[in-house]
Amino acid sequence: MSTPIRRQYLSIKRQYPDTIVFFRLGDFYETFDDDAKLAASVLDITLTSREMGRGNRIPMAGIPCHAAQGYIARLVGAGHKVAICEQIGEPTGRELVERRVTRIVTPGTVTDPAMLDSDTNHYIAAVLLDGARAGLAVADISTGEFATTEINAADPAAARAAVHRELLRLHPAEIVAPASPPDAEDPLPAEVVPEGAYITRRDRSEWRLEVADEELRRHFGVETLEAYGCAGKPFAIRAAGALLQYLAETQVGSLKQIVDLVTYSTERYMSLDGQTRRNLELSESSRGERRHSLIAVLDQTRTPMGARMLRRWVGQPLLDLAELQDRQDAVAYFVDRALVRARLRDALGHVSDLERLINRVVTGAAGPRELLSLARSLQRLPEINEILGDGDRPCLVAGPPDCSETARLIVQALVDEPPAVLGGGPTIRAGFSPELDGLRASSREAREWIAGLEQAERERTGIKSLKVGFNKVFGYYIEVSRANISAVPSDYQRKQTLVNAERYITPELKEYESRVLNAEERIADLEEQVYRRVLAQVAAAADSVRAAAQAVAQLDVLSALAEVAVRRRYVRPELDDSTVLEIVGGRHPVVEVTLETGQFVPNDTYLDTESNQITILTGPNMAGKSTYLRQVALIVLLAQIGSFVPAERARIGLVDRIFTRIGAQDDIATGQSTFMVEMVETATILHHATPRSLVVLDEIGRGTSTYDGLAIARAVVEHLHNSPRLGCKTLFATHYHELTELEKILPRVRNYRVDVLEEGDEVVFLHRVVPGGADRSYGIHVAQLAGMPRAVVRRAGEILADLEGSAERTERGRRRKAMATPRVEAMQLTLFGVPDPIVEDLKALDVESLTPLEALTTLYELRRRA
Ligand code: ADP
Repeated sequence: MSTPIRRQYLSIKRQYPDTIVFFRLGDFYETFDDDAKLAASVLDITLTSREMGRGNRIPMAGIPCHAAQGYIARLVGAGHKVAICEQIGEPTGRELVERRVTRIVTPGTVTDPAMLDSDTNHYIAAVLLDGARAGLAVADISTGEFATTEINAADPAAARAAVHRELLRLHPAEIVAPASPPDAEDPLPAEVVPEGAYITRRDRSEWRLEVADEELRRHFGVETLEAYGCAGKPFAIRAAGALLQYLAETQVGSLKQIVDLVTYSTERYMSLDGQTRRNLELSESSRGERRHSLIAVLDQTRTPMGARMLRRWVGQPLLDLAELQDRQDAVAYFVDRALVRARLRDALGHVSDLERLINRVVTGAAGPRELLSLARSLQRLPEINEILGDGDRPCLVAGPPDCSETARLIVQALVDEPPAVLGGGPTIRAGFSPELDGLRASSREAREWIAGLEQAERERTGIKSLKVGFNKVFGYYIEVSRANISAVPSDYQRKQTLVNAERYITPELKEYESRVLNAEERIADLEEQVYRRVLAQVAAAADSVRAAAQAVAQLDVLSALAEVAVRRRYVRPELDDSTVLEIVGGRHPVVEVTLETGQFVPNDTYLDTESNQITILTGPNMAGKSTYLRQVALIVLLAQIGSFVPAERARIGLVDRIFTRIGAQDDIATGQSTFMVEMVETATILHHATPRSLVVLDEIGRGTSTYDGLAIARAVVEHLHNSPRLGCKTLFATHYHELTELEKILPRVRNYRVDVLEEGDEVVFLHRVVPGGADRSYGIHVAQLAGMPRAVVRRAGEILADLEGSAERTERGRRRKAMATPRVEAMQLTLFGVPDPIVEDLKALDVESLTPLEALTTLYELRRRA
């Protein structure tokens, strides 16, 4: 037999099977059964048990309500969902209090400020994939952002790749997808899901078009979705509708912060795949440090919403010339006005997170201190407008709308130093609510009367030792020592007897006492009412506060980019629709910051589709090849977010996509070999690059033997050069100096090398990119620099001399033939000079006619035999 409370718990728990239910019992949230075991182990709290019905002991683990946030954060951080089940109404003692789940906290629906990073958005995404079509919706319930897109790709693989790219860009804390039917393909294939993502499955019925469409229209209170730009985009609607249903469930119906839906097109933006984001170290370095990333250099923003907007811009470079020029005009405006910029940035520094604050107001979660901080930020807006002045300004330099009414209301309503949570101390300012003032006055009077009572009674009774006191059980009392009891007046009523004294009460004291105690309760009630009313009034002005947050974010990003441009001596690049990429005196934005001023050696770049399509860059290790490659890609990326660039001068024909293949990292997580990863990435590039793309390849072929590597490297260059579909601008860094031969054979290939100075045994790195190819690599010098034992370095030198000698002998015999036919023979410049059956087989291959897959299989076969 279980108790009524147990039955109540079980009926609630049944609705949330895969969620830990926090069941409110007085001042504690209790968890039971398996939830309790799980909570106890994750949170390291005591697992106890409780008798709930005769012979029915239930495992239980509880946490105090006041500390709940921290525990919830830890459970959610560990990948669990938590349903908060509250008591509705006051317990009456006898009947079972009603209890209801008021909120479900999941990784993607966290709103507690302590659990959010102020500089980044906290996204939850919904993905619907079906063949070559896909819908992807995304929301940040802490800021109210809600957007959706539809992808119509050429084939299913392309659709999956596009979804994967978007998910990598958004980095959602949770991904919602349709439930996977047992006997069919998973609607969310593993290849689209970023590593470590948290996935929630939802019933397939929620993803039906009618259901999703209806849900969206009901939420926004509209007849058609025309205004949101997604009418006629069924996949966009289905993903958005399904996401909204899930969010509504977690917020238990209250989703007031979602007031708009933006339909966007992924085609508006330059697409950056995961490896390019990583290789270019946009938000963190390859070692996982945020410090040495592009964002770290650019982020001179002063507000959280500016910081978030900057990250969105960097994640989505633009393709539209006019839009980019608008951004450039705005950045230039602030570059030219040092004083305006400085004053603006100073004012912005006083604006807190308007976007998240107004969301907390709208959802009713904002505490008094947050509300006041909203007001103080809004009070800064007129100053921002005043700094911008009335003159002509570029269209993006727009001041925030006036919100001073809202600010005034809050400041008038709240005391100067309100408590963080309602009920934690006086909140409403005197003079704001006459009713509240009246109550406070009467309570104060009563207190004063009680305070004067001791003296008055001593005089009336003549008992010098008479005392007035208070305790929680008996309330106020008058205490008289046993010796003086005979002098007690007749209106004293005995209340409590102590060893040496008696305690009394008088009718009058009783009345004042109830005035004090009642007033306190009523003051608390009334404060809450007044506070809720103020919140509602502020929420009514949410639209203009949101618009202000948006304007502030934009001003913040634009002036931050200007600040970076001035501090780091960036220039405004000339943008056009050509296919030319010309950089004079370009620098790597991140590397230059880590060096002392003037130490970074600037370099030029010239690429086009006519006669400078492919740069083959050679040079010793550590010379600066990777730095140069990344620098060019980053300059293009910076230009296409509207920023100025680290160069003396730049002309950039807009690029539709930046592809990178850099370094040889093992992808341990997916269990693929270094070489396989390298080939897959290279294949992707060859399949997707267009004449408008920029391709950056570093050390292709490094992950395999010399022959394989050289063969593939060369075949890739030939393909990039010869395939009529490609013609993309390419930077190709390699340690195979044999590849410099290609300049003589392929008309659009140009050789460059990173210059070094040799002084005796020493090599001095000049970091200067100059025309021409290197004729050898300098690995041994690097080994020496790295502190290898002298004996090893010396011995390596001997072996190298030996090998080079034999290679030269072989080479002489082959060179003429190699020059004449740009085929595999040229790669027989073997370092070892020994004929090899594998080389013979390679020779027989017709590389041009192989598909990438055949090439791979062949290579694996060759390597197996090697
Ligand atoms: P590689 O790819 O040729 O092995 P890197 O690009 O990794 O060489 O560069 C090696 C180091 O040389 C970098 O860490 C950086 O400190 C320095 N470096 C590279 N390019 C420059 C430059 N243009 N000016 C000054 N230092 C540079």
